Amino acid sequence: MKHVNLLILDDKEENIISLSALLSEVDHINIISSTDPNEALKICWKNDIAIALVDVQMPEINGFEFVSLLKSNPKTNHIMAIMVTAISKEDRYLLKGLESGAVDYLYKPLHPEITVAKVTSFVRQIHIQEEIKQKNIALEESQRQLILAKEEAEEARRSKESFLANMSHEIRTPINGIVGIIHILRNTPLNNEQHDWIKRLDNASNSLLLIINDILDISKIDSGMMKIEYENFSIRKKLMDIDNFFKIKALDRNLAFEMDIDPQLPEYIRSSPIRIQQIIDNFVSNALKFTEEGKITLQTSVVDQAASQCTIKFTVTDTGIGIKPEAIEKIFLAFEQGDDGITKKYGGTGLGLAIVKRLADLLHGKIEAKSAYGEGSAFSFQATFEKVDNFRQEETIDTTAISSLHKFDNVRILVAEDNELNSFMLVHILKSWGCEVDVVKNGRIAVEYINQHDYDLIMMDTHMPVMSGFEAIQEIKAHPNPHKANTPIITISASVLQHEQAAAYEAGADSVIGKPFDPLDLYQKIDKLISKRV
Ligand code: ADP
Repeated sequence: MKHVNLLILDDKEENIISLSALLSEVDHINIISSTDPNEALKICWKNDIAIALVDVQMPEINGFEFVSLLKSNPKTNHIMAIMVTAISKEDRYLLKGLESGAVDYLYKPLHPEITVAKVTSFVRQIHIQEEIKQKNIALEESQRQLILAKEEAEEARRSKESFLANMSHEIRTPINGIVGIIHILRNTPLNNEQHDWIKRLDNASNSLLLIINDILDISKIDSGMMKIEYENFSIRKKLMDIDNFFKIKALDRNLAFEMDIDPQLPEYIRSSPIRIQQIIDNFVSNALKFTEEGKITLQTSVVDQAASQCTIKFTVTDTGIGIKPEAIEKIFLAFEQGDDGITKKYGGTGLGLAIVKRLADLLHGKIEAKSAYGEGSAFSFQATFEKVDNFRQEETIDTTAISSLHKFDNVRILVAEDNELNSFMLVHILKSWGCEVDVVKNGRIAVEYINQHDYDLIMMDTHMPVMSGFEAIQEIKAHPNPHKANTPIITISASVLQHEQAAAYEAGADSVIGKPFDPLDLYQKIDKLISKRV
């Protein structure tokens, strides 16, 4: 334990000797003494004195004045002063000492045991104070470290976000081109072999897109950027869509796909149809992937029902390879697969179930997996949903027939896109809808074109050399000619990150489409924007 410096100030040398002798019993102290208050003050300034035993009656400066001086100096005001006095024990003296800043009194003649006990207790107090001080320093240090770690984590999150924005742009842009060209090629005369090649190309680009979307999804969820968008929808219709889609896929693999819907299932609920479908799609896709023969069942049962709420459980059962008991927990972790041999034989990234688990959490639901190795598995998602009455769902238009959409009449569009594959594909689609199209490669030329010509609509890529899409939009929106300034602008954003899409709107875009985009979505957006234009 650290020694504590204790000062004895008494004008009489003999008193110092007797007090020092008494205190020799107290552990962990160094005694320093003086008969002169001025010298004692200097000792206090220069040495780390913790306790001062101060005689009250001294010539020149008395004990009360000495303690007041100690207390008035920030360098010495922490010193615990104990007055040593022979004068009366009357309250007014006591009060005077305490007012000057003393913490206690010792009365002459000194009682040896009381003196030792008091000083010992003050030494202990000082040790405790020292310990608290050290702990505070450690606490402050760990707080500092924590703030530093938080800042570092923030920084890492930011760079991950911008890496994601860039990566999504860089990868999705060429895929957008590939998907578009496949679409164009499919509508040209092809022999059977070429049809087969196109089909393979389509499958490959779709799987690539799925992987990228999975990576982006998990990163979005983990950085808290995945927003669940709630809407009223027909759960029965959603299940029928899933049934239609997977029946064909199962048939392709010589498997049966069956649906079992609880008659008590309500027609309409409020939730996120996209995310529910994503969860079920994932279960069924895995079931198809890991089942060689037999059947896959999607069972929808109502677990609990009240006036306004309904707890629904979706279970996908298969007769596939099953999962070893020791692997069942880890398959919900990102990049984990049930078996080391799985990738080799079945491919996959191990991200699907990790996303499903996170989506289920976001929907306040739970996931369950049961499996008998070699016999089959059952994956379920259960959550409570709000029931909706008297709701009419908008009919969606068939997305397959984009070339049969009615042509736009006398519509001139400026496309600003630096990627040749993408602009080629975009121009082809726009021309198939009867539009007249000009193409430029950066924002600067786009602004020049706007000055020279009149357009009904501008399609602007966000990332371009020379002048970015955002800068160009800002210039166009500030155009002195109000007709030109009001030209509707659709930004083409390869980023799925919400903040980038928000930035497009902030820059002045009227609408945003993603990459790869759904042609029908684009058609509807163009239709809406040009019909508003006067
Ligand atoms: P991926 O399928 O891309 O590997 P998932 O996260 O969807 O990733 O699945 C993780 C692992 O869980 C799979 O690799 C597989 O080992 C196991 N698994 C998932 N569903 C099934 C299933 N229906 N039957 C057998 N194994 C499954």
